[in-house]
Amino acid sequence: MKLDIFLAGIRLEECDWLMSEYEAYLENDYRIKLLRKMADHVYQSRGQRYSCGQLHELADKLESCNEGLYQCKSVACKKCNRLFKIERVNNIIASILLDQEQALDAEYGIYTIVQYSRGVDAYDFVNYDIPKDKDRLRKLLSRCGISGPVLGAFELDFHDSPQKWLPHYHVLMRKSGNEEAIERLGERLSKLHPKHIKQNRQARPFMKQEFRDPLKQLSYLHKLACFEVRDYQSFWGTNLTKKYRLNKLMFCESLCWLDEQDRRTLPFQWNARAWLKKSKV
Ligand SMILES: [Zn+2]
Repeated sequence: MKLDIFLAGIRLEECDWLMSEYEAYLENDYRIKLLRKMADHVYQSRGQRYSCGQLHELADKLESCNEGLYQCKSVACKKCNRLFKIERVNNIIASILLDQEQALDAEYGIYTIVQYSRGVDAYDFVNYDIPKDKDRLRKLLSRCGISGPVLGAFELDFHDSPQKWLPHYHVLMRKSGNEEAIERLGERLSKLHPKHIKQNRQARPFMKQEFRDPLKQLSYLHKLACFEVRDYQSFWGTNLTKKYRLNKLMFCESLCWLDEQDRRTLPFQWNARAWLKKSKV
């Protein structure tokens, strides 16, 4: 697939569907107000993971960033995440275009890796060891013989019905030259994660998508946020899922947890550093 025809010169920040800087400011404003409101609630109830003071501190940090005093670079900040996403997606696109100039047939795919066997109970998500999880995935990619580049992000979503968080990855992988290795990866993942966290549901630990809408798909890969996933049935009776904002307390806790993460913790990449650098020269 030749992407350069419709990608050359288009940058993510110019796409009208992307959240604008003002919308990111409004979302931060919502987060600041909710953190302060829930701080009182946390103060009155014992045994909360994050204290009243921590919620207020994060609200103050986001407020300073929203007022333009400095860039907080917190993963809980919509404004800073928006800038991070723009830079990262534009870099990836530039590297893909360069690849296509050099090897015309380089093809890519978008993949979701769902780790059903690593589901986490409701209040344990803050202890999830992401660096260790990413190391495990890198080893698996290496054992399957995937040459890279692989780029994307780690995500934790909350599933209401079994009250569990499900760790997963959304990644871009180069298909060309990796066809058999990707097959092997799919087989390994089916063995590692055979059972869905919900009863009577088929596990789909490895899902593939064509790379048809690069800017939108790469943008989706870098959401850097936690959601609640709810089930619903289509008109035809198919089981589908939709993402919602977490309940107010969990949303605030997820923000505190995101704020604790280093900027490099959620993004995932493997055999991609040199590939990304090429386009910056
Ligand atoms: Zn910020």
